[in-house]
Amino acid sequence: MRKSALYTVLALLLQLGGCYPDRPVYTDRFLAFGTLVDITIVGASQQQAQEAARAVEEDFLKMHEAWHAWNPGPLGRTNEQLAVGIQFPAPPMILPLVKSGQALSARSRHLFNPAVGHLIDAWGFHDDNPEGHHPPPDAMIQELVLNNPRMSDIRIEGINLQSSNPSVKLDFGAFGKGYGIDLAVKHLKELGIKNAILNTGGDLRAFGSRNGIPWNIAIRRPDGAGVIATIKVSGDESIFTSGDYERYFSWRGKRYHHIIDPRTGYPAEGTRSVTVIHPDSTTADAAATALFVAGPDMWHEIARDMGIEFVMLIDAEGAIHMSPEMEQRLELLDTDRKTIISPPMTGSGTRGS
Ligand code: ADP
Ligand code: MG
Repeated sequence: MRKSALYTVLALLLQLGGCYPDRPVYTDRFLAFGTLVDITIVGASQQQAQEAARAVEEDFLKMHEAWHAWNPGPLGRTNEQLAVGIQFPAPPMILPLVKSGQALSARSRHLFNPAVGHLIDAWGFHDDNPEGHHPPPDAMIQELVLNNPRMSDIRIEGINLQSSNPSVKLDFGAFGKGYGIDLAVKHLKELGIKNAILNTGGDLRAFGSRNGIPWNIAIRRPDGAGVIATIKVSGDESIFTSGDYERYFSWRGKRYHHIIDPRTGYPAEGTRSVTVIHPDSTTADAAATALFVAGPDMWHEIARDMGIEFVMLIDAEGAIHMSPEMEQRLELLDTDRKTIISPPMTGSGTRGS
């Protein structure tokens, strides 16, 4: 008994150390959505893991082609038809995103608003490297805000779409990656993978474990330098962070980042980063963006409306705001920061959705 237990421990240590002959930790990396995608698979054969990683890479490639708002392709054509207001059949890769985009946008009180493609376009944030850009004229921003494009301007009838507002332009930048990860995880599970992390530049979904040890995820500091906290994944969860350091340009001494407040048309102020945990990545991605826009004063009510329990927001002064549920889950490394714990996210007073 004791001997076999010792062998098990030894085998585990060897596996973790990476010198076990049939090493069960498979890692791979490819480029998609303009970021590196890291995939880690545990407990599958080398061949099974390799095939699964290739399948996921192909999935991401197809999604990227379909959802690029500025290339001719399914989303480009959809945007043309939304702008002229005719009724048309939605491409199959587009319809589910319009549906979940509508629901999530409504629940976020339109702070997450994937219909603001013209604003994103005006700021130049569709560009993978916006450095060297400058802000669009204020009059242009005011007009784009006044046009008030909303996901609810799109009527869905079966597979047909029609927009009642010509200023609607879809941009899936704030939740396309999340939706993509959800599809890819579904595919991985269909291929028999039981333990994996799919990580697109810090936004990830993890399921299973690493040889029985929970996945431990590092959350970057808002300035991008070092780790602010770690989170242990329980079961199958998505951890998403939206930060002002992801994509930005500087002009006349001021930094302009890529998360736009649809109410003002300008980059959202008051927040440096937001991290959320949620079972599905689509919701987590949309919520991280919405709560970033909501800022230190409003994140709590929007998170409740969106059904998000675990939230950490770092404000412009570097203080941490978080739900008590998140506090329980986090191992905070930056213990010297001012930390404000909100009332619980669930329990009495929770609004239904
Ligand atoms: P990242 O992609 O860096 O993780 P987000 O998920 O927050 O960051 O997505 C930001 C992208 O979403 C922007 O580049 C833009 O394309 C789009 N976007 C910006 N502001 C909003 C908004 N308020 N609602 C919906 N989409 C937005
Ligand atoms: Mg997002």
